[in-house]
Amino acid sequence: LLDALADMGALAIERVRLVEALDRAERDAETDRLRQALLTSISHDLRTPLAAVLGAASTLRDLDAALAPPAKAELVATIVAESERLNRFIANLLDMTRLEAGAVAPNVSLQDLGETVDTALRRTERVLAGHRVAVAVPPDLPPLRLDPVLFEQVLVNLLDNAAKYAPEGSTVTIRARAEGAWILLTVEDEGDGLPEEDVERVFDKFYRVRKGDRVRAGTGLGLAISRGFVEAMGGTIAAANRRDRSGAAFTLRLPVPGRPAREAA
Ligand code: ADP
Repeated sequence: LLDALADMGALAIERVRLVEALDRAERDAETDRLRQALLTSISHDLRTPLAAVLGAASTLRDLDAALAPPAKAELVATIVAESERLNRFIANLLDMTRLEAGAVAPNVSLQDLGETVDTALRRTERVLAGHRVAVAVPPDLPPLRLDPVLFEQVLVNLLDNAAKYAPEGSTVTIRARAEGAWILLTVEDEGDGLPEEDVERVFDKFYRVRKGDRVRAGTGLGLAISRGFVEAMGGTIAAANRRDRSGAAFTLRLPVPGRPAREAA
């Protein structure tokens, strides 16, 4: 009997091993598939602007004498815009790689939220030129321990998105308030908002609601990077649709230094 039990035990262990091996193989295949899809999508995102640059540059080279100044100016504008797009995409890919390698070490110091918001607004002045901007950041908020470079990048990403996905003439609102051990900072717009069923997916790498949207250029990486940066500084970021009207709302929760975070939970 003991021998039989031992045999059964050995069989059971063997089966567990097999199932594990199968799981691993499936996971490997899935990972391979994902990696392949990722490479395809990255190549596409690199090649599309590069093709536009090459096209415009070759036209300038071959037809230079025959082109009227406005046509030339347009080709040059294409080269600049598409090169900027490439530049942004590569910078985003590098940020994403650094995040995934755990190589983002925030360099924190005490920062005034109002000043940080002002800096981000100055950096997005050009893209937000057609929008109204409303800022409601109380002056008496405690300073926060933030990496100013990373944090500004997050705000710039959110403001860029508000400018891109909400119509000209609409209002972008930045609001901050204290809630226990946290400061909440919200960026709201008056665009179409996010698809209710996958609000969370906007933080996925390469996720874009309208794939191939080239009018509103984007990489689908801005929010994934923003989440990584905010979490590296001990905060969280969440997306939602506004309740009071149509539009998206992104809320950052940032810990107030020296206050136990549990107080707020
Ligand atoms: P992208 O470079 O495409 O803007 P993001 O990671 O910043 O990448 O955003 C991912 C996607 O989430 C966008 O492509 C867009 O579909 C959606 N999105 C982001 N912000 C907004 C917003 N303020 N309003 C509506 N949709 C948004």
